[in-house]
This record gives sequence, structure tokens and C-alpha cells, in this order.
Amino acid sequence: TFRALQLSKTDDGQAANIVELTENDLMDGDVTVEVTHSTINYKDGLALTGAAPVVRTWPIIPGIDFVGTVTKSEHGSWKEGDKVILNGWGVGETHFGGYSQCARVKGDWLVALPDGISPERAMAIGTAGYTSMLCVRGLERQGIMPDSGDIVVTGAAGGVGSVAIALLAKLGYRVIASTGRASEANYLKGLGAAEIIDRDELSGEGRPLGKERWAGAVDAVGSKTLANVIAQTKYGGAVTACGLAQGPDLPSSVMPFILRGVQLIGIDSVMAPIEKRQDAWNRLATDLDMAKLDAMTETVGLSDVAEIAPKILAGQVRGRVVVDVNA
Ligand code: NAP
Repeated sequence: TFRALQLSKTDDGQAANIVELTENDLMDGDVTVEVTHSTINYKDGLALTGAAPVVRTWPIIPGIDFVGTVTKSEHGSWKEGDKVILNGWGVGETHFGGYSQCARVKGDWLVALPDGISPERAMAIGTAGYTSMLCVRGLERQGIMPDSGDIVVTGAAGGVGSVAIALLAKLGYRVIASTGRASEANYLKGLGAAEIIDRDELSGEGRPLGKERWAGAVDAVGSKTLANVIAQTKYGGAVTACGLAQGPDLPSSVMPFILRGVQLIGIDSVMAPIEKRQDAWNRLATDLDMAKLDAMTETVGLSDVAEIAPKILAGQVRGRVVVDVNA
């Protein structure tokens, strides 16, 4: 048997319980993994609290990420003993996920744990950090390089934001961090932010075009913030949109696109093809300062997960949270 966090529907909503399961309880898949760590992303917060209909199969084992060692494989790419990472693909939504000591998934969904990243650090990165790298790759593909100008990162003290700052700073970009938590200024500077701005500057009603302030952006916030970020992007700049912490709306105009040639780049981690994932993880292994990653990470046990979920939605979690499923 193994331990897992199970989320079930109840009369007054949903309940999370630690349960003992056997491999027979798992869903179909061609690779079985002994999971060591998972993590808590914003989407896990949505699933665990029911704040948005992330979970489509009941009861479910939530957790959109895991890392572990293959114990059984009927998939040509994987054999017993391989260390693997899983991010997304509907795991923790429609398929049993990472808050479990054991998982069975499709081998096609897995990425090899790169040399140089420990299992615990792979989950400190998690979907949030891998998405930050997808954003950085998006900017690079548009030719936004360190000499193009500043990069603004919104939701800076959150998971996506913290990893994005560390990555961009190491790559030589000058980073402007937008946060609602002025008390985290030293933390953000420690990760490599050159300048901190109050998120109120960006979260209100804005003008269709503002002063040109940055060449690029990593936006985890959406809504008016994203609209203002776009309106203040320099001629020829690029904005990567990956999140909706403020809201899913985008009250913008075409002006930045047609007068300044600004590019808006959508970032999806969940269904991203395997080559993109492998590339992002390989780049994380070389371009993320592991000391900075450690500085933004706290580790908790399976029984702490339910309690942290509402906090991540309230923007009260700093950086990243690793879940040790054996703790
Ligand atoms: P997180 O750790 O909670 O970070 C979100 C941050 O946004 C918060 O820490 C806070 O930063 C800021 N924020 C929260 N509420 C806000 C509000 N009402 N207005 C403005 N800013 C607010 O979450 P995460 O795991 O990094 O995820 C961030 C976002 O990216 C989420 O929306 C998530 O769904 C999305 N995401 C998308 C993908 C994808 O595939 N597209 C992948 C991963 C994540 P400050 O306190 O510093 O202001």
C-alpha cells in the first residue's frame, strides 16, 4: 500500500483526506512511478479549494506535478530506475496526480530528470518554474535579449515570478519586479531584481498607450495588469502571458500592437509538446541558480497541502513550496 491525498465531493463541497491505496486503485497508464516529491502551484490551490473547476474526475488524487523513480514500464522510452518528472497533461485534474507515493501515467507524458537537478529541486521548479522558462524562451524567440531593454515580471513574489526573476537575472537581463508585497523587496533583490515597483501602478484602469518602459514582460497576473504591461512595452517588444492571478479578462486595445509592433505571446505548460518541455528542463539545469532556487523554496509534508492551498490563491505564498510525499 501507499499513502495519497484524496479529494472527494461532499454534500457541502469537497474534502481532502490522506488515504491508503494499492496500485490496483490507480488509473491506466504504461509507466508506474514511485513518487518522492510534488509541489503546490496556483492551479493546485484552485483544485484543492474548489475555487475553479480544475478537477474533472471524482474522487481524485490532486497534484499537477511529481518527480520520482520508474518502478514498472511498458513504454519504450522508460525502464525501471529511471528518474522522471511529470508536469501537467491533466494529471491532478482528470488523471490521478502527484500527492501520492505512487503514480501510474502515460510514458509519453514524462520528461527525464536532467543531470544536475535533484528530485527535490525539480519540484521546487515544478510547473511554475518550467512555465517561467517557457516565458523566457518565448522572449528569446522574439529576439528580446539583455541589451533590448528591461523586463518586467508581474506577480513577482509568487512561484512563476520568483523563478522568472532568478532566470532572467542570471541570463543578464535587467529585471523590474512588480509586487503587492513591499515587505518582500529584499527577497526580490536577492533573486536578482534591479528595481521593485508596486503592483498598484499596473493593476488599475490604464491608457491604451503609456510611456515605453520595458522591452519584455513575464506576466502571471492577467487582467488590467497585463493590459497596462502591454501598453507600456517599448516599440518591437514582447509580452509573455501565462497567468490570471488578477483575472482572466484582458481589457486592452490594439494600439500597442499596431503602433508599436508589440508581440503578445501566449504560454501554455499543460499540453506543451515534449520537445519544448525537454528543452525547457535542459535550460533550467544550466540557467537557474540553484542557490537562488533554494532561497525561494520551503518544504512541507502531504498533510500540510490542504492548509496551504487557500494561501496560494490569496497571494500569501512566497516563491515555491515542495511537498515531500514521504514526510
Ligand atoms: P502564485 O505563487 O500564487 O503567484 C501569483 C502571484 O500573483 C502572487 O504571489 C502575487 O504576487 C500576485 N497576485 C496575486 N493576486 C493578485 C491580484 N489580485 N492582483 C495582482 N497580483 C496578484 O502562483 P503561481 O503558481 O506562480 O502561478 C501564477 C499564475 O500563473 C497563476 O494564474 C497560474 O494559474 C498561472 N500559471 C499558468 C501556467 C500556464 O501553463 N499558462 C503555468 C503555471 C502557472 P505579489 O504578491 O508579488 O504581487
